[in-house]
Amino acid sequence: MNDIILLKVGEIILKGLNRRRFEQKLLGNIRWRLSRLGKYRVYILQSTVYVEGDEGADMDLAFEELQKVFGVVAISRAAACAKDKDAIAKLAIDYLRDDMLRAKSFKVESRRSDKSFPMTSVELSQYVGGELSDAYPDIEVDVHDPELVVHIEVRDLAAYVHAAPVPGAGGMPVGSNGVAISLLSGGIDSPVSTWMIARRGVRPIPVHFFSFPYTSEQAKEKVIELARLLTPWCGKMRMEVVPFTHIQEEIRDKCPEEYFTLIMRRFMMRIAERIALDNGAKAIVTGENLGQVASQTMEAMASTQAVLHLPVLQPLIGMDKSEIIAQARKIGTFETSILPYEDCCTVFTPRHPRTHPTVAEVEEAESALDVETLVNEALAGLERIAIDYEESL
Ligand code: ATP
Ligand code: MG
Repeated sequence: MNDIILLKVGEIILKGLNRRRFEQKLLGNIRWRLSRLGKYRVYILQSTVYVEGDEGADMDLAFEELQKVFGVVAISRAAACAKDKDAIAKLAIDYLRDDMLRAKSFKVESRRSDKSFPMTSVELSQYVGGELSDAYPDIEVDVHDPELVVHIEVRDLAAYVHAAPVPGAGGMPVGSNGVAISLLSGGIDSPVSTWMIARRGVRPIPVHFFSFPYTSEQAKEKVIELARLLTPWCGKMRMEVVPFTHIQEEIRDKCPEEYFTLIMRRFMMRIAERIALDNGAKAIVTGENLGQVASQTMEAMASTQAVLHLPVLQPLIGMDKSEIIAQARKIGTFETSILPYEDCCTVFTPRHPRTHPTVAEVEEAESALDVETLVNEALAGLERIAIDYEESL
C-alpha cells in the first residue's frame, strides 16, 4: 500500500496567469523542505500537490514538516489503490481501522475528477459507507454531524482514501511575492512579523542591529537562533548583522536625549533601505505595534519613516500583545524571545522620550551628525550569516 501526502493548494489558484509560477515556487519550497528527510516524489495535479515517499522515506516526519509550508490550506495523508469500488472499500476498512474504532459516527464523502469512473460520487460514498458499516458495526452513520469524515477521491492515476485533513499553514508560497528586509531584534514581536510577512509569500532577509559591547555576544546568538527557528517556515535565509555601536555613541554624544530612540530608528531605516536596494528587496518589515511603546505613536513612526522611499510593512500593527504572544508560542519563537538579553533599543534609552514629535524637530535634533558617513561606515562593517535549517540539525 502506497501511503502518500496530499496538500491542497491555497489562494494561489486564484492567481490566473501567474498560477504556474506560484505553483512552481510552492513545489520548489516543498522539495527543499523534504530534501533533508529523504527521497520523495513531488508533483501537482488539479490543485493538489502529491508527495510520495521512496522506500524508507519517513512519512510521519514529512507530514509534520509540510504543515509549515506556506501556500497550503489543508493537508492529509492518504493511501492509494486501484480505481475499483471493492479495492477502495477494502482499503478504507484496513487503512482507517484505528479511526473507525475510535469514532462514534462517520460518513463517507467522495469526489471523482475521473468522470469515466462507473459510479457517481454519491453511489461510491454509499457503497463504501455500507462496507465500512458492515466491518465496524459499532460506529453509526451520521451524514449531518459525523465525528469522522472518510474522504475518497478518484483521480486520474489512482483512487485515494484519506481521513479528515488537518489545516495547512495557509498564506502564499515564500518567494512568490518578492523579497523584503525584515528588522529582527531579539524581542517577541519581530520574529512574529517576519513569520507573518513570509506567510504572505515574501522572502525575508533578516537584518539585525548589534551594539557590541553594550549588547552581548549572547544577544546576537539569540537573534541567530530566532532566525533559525523561522527557517522551517521561511526557508534558509541570509542574515545581515549591522555594527551599530558607533552610531549609538554619536547619537548619545551629539543629540538631545529625548530624541535618542527616534534618531536611532531613523538610522535603522536608512541602513535597511540601503541593504534592500543591494538585494532587490522592495519593502522594510518591522514588528511595530501601534501605541505599544513611545516610538510607536503615529507621529513617531512618521518621523522614522520620513527618511525612507520604500514602504514599511508592519504586520502586527493592529494586534493585541496577547495575540502576538499566542502567535509567537504557536510558531515556536516565544521561549527564545524571552531569554533575558538586552537589545540595542534599550541602550541609552531616554528617560523622557518624545512621543509626538514633528519631522522637522527630529531633523533638527540629529543635525549635528554626519549621517552619510555613519551609514556608509555601518554598511562597510556588515556581517553576513547563513541561517540554514539543514546544517543546524
Ligand atoms: P520586538 O519585540 O520585535 O523587539 P519591540 O516591541 O521591542 O519589538 P521596538 O524596540 O520599538 O519594539 O522595535 C520595533 C521594531 O524595530 C522591532 O519589532 C524590530 O522590527 C525593529 N528592531 C528593534 N530593535 C532592533 C534591532 N536591534 N535589530 C533589528 N531590528 C530591530
Ligand atoms: Mg525590542
